[in-house]
Amino acid sequence: MTIAQAKLLPELEKTPLERYVPPARPSLVGLSRAALAEALGAVGVAPSQQKMRVAQLWHWIYVRGVQAFDQMSSVSKELRATLDAHYTLARPEVIVEQVSADGTRKWLLRLPGESGARPHEIECVYIPESDRGTLCVSSQVGCTLNCSFYHTGTQRLVRNLTPGEIVGQVMVARDRLGDFVGMDRAQGPGLPTAGERCVSNIVMMGMGEPLYNFEAVRDALAVVQDGDGLALSRRRITLSTSGVVPMIERAGREIGVMLAVSLHAVRDDLRDTLVPLNRKYPIAELLEACRNYPGLSNARRITFEYVMLKGVNDSAEDAKALVRLLKGIPAKINLIPFNPWPGSQYECSDWEQIEKFSEIVFNAGYASPVRTPRGRDILAACGQLKSATEKLSARERMALRAMAMTE
Ligand code: SAH
Repeated sequence: MTIAQAKLLPELEKTPLERYVPPARPSLVGLSRAALAEALGAVGVAPSQQKMRVAQLWHWIYVRGVQAFDQMSSVSKELRATLDAHYTLARPEVIVEQVSADGTRKWLLRLPGESGARPHEIECVYIPESDRGTLCVSSQVGCTLNCSFYHTGTQRLVRNLTPGEIVGQVMVARDRLGDFVGMDRAQGPGLPTAGERCVSNIVMMGMGEPLYNFEAVRDALAVVQDGDGLALSRRRITLSTSGVVPMIERAGREIGVMLAVSLHAVRDDLRDTLVPLNRKYPIAELLEACRNYPGLSNARRITFEYVMLKGVNDSAEDAKALVRLLKGIPAKINLIPFNPWPGSQYECSDWEQIEKFSEIVFNAGYASPVRTPRGRDILAACGQLKSATEKLSARERMALRAMAMTE
C-alpha cells in the first residue's frame, strides 16, 4: 500500500452526518414484537394484555396493511383513539413513482431529516419476473464506500436508516402494488396474477452498506420474516455486501439470509480501485470469510456479483481467474451489465464479451448468469437510484434484473 492510499483509508468509514430524530408521533411500522409491546405499555396497555394486542396489531399492520388505527376493527375504539393520539402507521412518503413498460417500478421516497435540514431521499425498486417479484431495498441514506463505478458511492453518507424505514420500503411497495390481504391488486404488465404475492423476494442492494447498519438491518429483516406478518422466508432475502469481513460471520448467525458479495474483480490491485474497502479487507480474507459463512451449502450458495466493465475486468483471463478463485465455495455468479451514469469513467462491456465471459463461467458449472434473450432490452441498477428521477433507461432495467437474480 502506498502512503497516498494509506491516507485515504480513514475515508472508507465516513461517519454519519446526521441522526434520526423521531417525530412527535412515531410510527409503529418496523418495531419488533417486544418493542411494540413496550410502545403499548407506554400508553397504558396492561402487561397481561400486551401479547394479545401485539398479535392483533401485527395482523392489521403486516397482513392487512392498514394505515389508520381506525380501520383495526377488532381493537376497541378506546385503544384505537389512544394509539392514534400517540403513534402513526406512517411509511416513507412516496415523492415520485415510475412504472416501466416491463413492470419495473421505482419509487423515490422521502424520510424525515433533522429539523431544518433538507429531507432525505432514498429509492426503492420493484422488479417483477415470471417466477418472482423482487424488491431492491436501501439500508443507508448515501454510502461510505466510494466504489468508483457506483453512483451512490460517490455521494456522502448522511445517515443510517432505522428498522422502520427499512421495513417501510417493503410496506410502500405492497401499498402501491395492492399486495396486502383484502386490497385491490395494481394492474399492469409483468405483475403476478392474483393469489401470488407481488413482493416475493427482497435484495438489500439499494443505497448503503447493510453491514455498516447491522442492528437496524437485522431487526428489520426479522420483522420482514415474521410468519404472522410479511412472512418472507430468509431464503428469499439476500443481503449484498461490499465485503465487511468482520461482520460476515455475525450476519450469517444473526440475520441468516442469503449472502451476496460485490466482488467485481479477481485481483487486489483492481478491486482496490473499484471497491476501496478492499484495501482494508482484501480478496483472500473476504473469500475466507465466505467459506466460513454459517449455513453455507450447495443448497444455500453465496452470490458473487460481478459488474461488467469494458476493458477493465471482462477478459477471458478474468473469467478463468474468477472460476479458480471461487473453487470450493458453494457459489453463484451474477454478471451485471454496468449501468453508466453521467460522469462515470467506465463503460459497459460489449454484449459479445459478456457472453464469452458468461460461457466460461457456465462451462465451469455455474448457471448461466446472463439470460441473453431478454438481456438486451431489460436490466437496471440501484447504482443511480437516487439521482435518476428521469425514466428508467433500458440499460438500468437490465442491470436491475440481473441484480435481482440471486436465488
Ligand atoms: N453496499 C452493498 C450494497 C449496495 S451496491 C454492496 O456493495 O454490495 C449493490 C450492487 O449494485 C453492487 O454489487 C453492484 O453490482 C450494483 N451496482 C452499483 N452500481 C452499479 C452500476 N452503475 N451498474 C451496475 N450495477 C451497479
